[in-house]
Amino acid sequence: MRTPLIAGNWKMNTDSNSAAALASEIAKRAGEVQDAELLVCPPNVYLTLVRDAIGDASVALGAQNMYHEANGAFTGEISAAMLCDLGLQYVILGHSERRHILGESDSDVNKKALAALAAGLVPVVCVGEQLADREAGKTAEVIRGQFDGSLAGITAEQIQSVVLAYEPVWAIGTGKVATPEQAEEVHADLRKQLTERYNSEIAESVRILYGGSVKPDNAAELLGQPNVDGALIGGASLKADDFLAIATAGAAVG
Ligand code: PEP
Repeated sequence: MRTPLIAGNWKMNTDSNSAAALASEIAKRAGEVQDAELLVCPPNVYLTLVRDAIGDASVALGAQNMYHEANGAFTGEISAAMLCDLGLQYVILGHSERRHILGESDSDVNKKALAALAAGLVPVVCVGEQLADREAGKTAEVIRGQFDGSLAGITAEQIQSVVLAYEPVWAIGTGKVATPEQAEEVHADLRKQLTERYNSEIAESVRILYGGSVKPDNAAELLGQPNVDGALIGGASLKADDFLAIATAGAAVG
């Protein structure tokens, strides 16, 4: 039984006032959501104020990225140990904006995932094809390559602490959402890869989120797919009403 995870990726949005207000509202109403886990990932500069706004509510805290080295001369970067020091539980890795705007490779994502796991953070490892890949019939090949590259060297024990997120690049922030069938096809293939690399029991335990224009009105259908175990939400996570409505829908069908 996989508990749905509903994760908000705030990206480079909010300011100190709106971040605190959004976190407080989600924290205050977190009890409305039964049978799903909530996670918010604000910009790094607001992590402590969001942590304090959450208080002891059932809302996990994550970062949107980190660097794989533990410390040292890496100007502008932050490490897994620093995120743990602030009390975070999760870190998003390999988001398509980092892959395609900031040039992160599978190997970068892999180093970060290994460092996050070693520090005790749960990495949310993102994979997803671009529109040209899908149109060329290469979706499965691209996702398999990202899976192999990003998760290289991750042991059977470690993979059970990893969350995967399928985010078709053409659906992120575009309002174009994958059909439930398109999402399920890729999620089922990811689970098959987990089975092939580890075993079916482990594969069944790993949560695979869908991300790409998830909104309250499409959440139930997407999250109702057998291999979709939650959502990674960008735009709609900036409104507490929408975020919680997606979580409620996900919990009901999860
Ligand atoms: C995302 O940021 O991971 C995302 C899926 O964005 P959106 O929900 O806005 O498409």
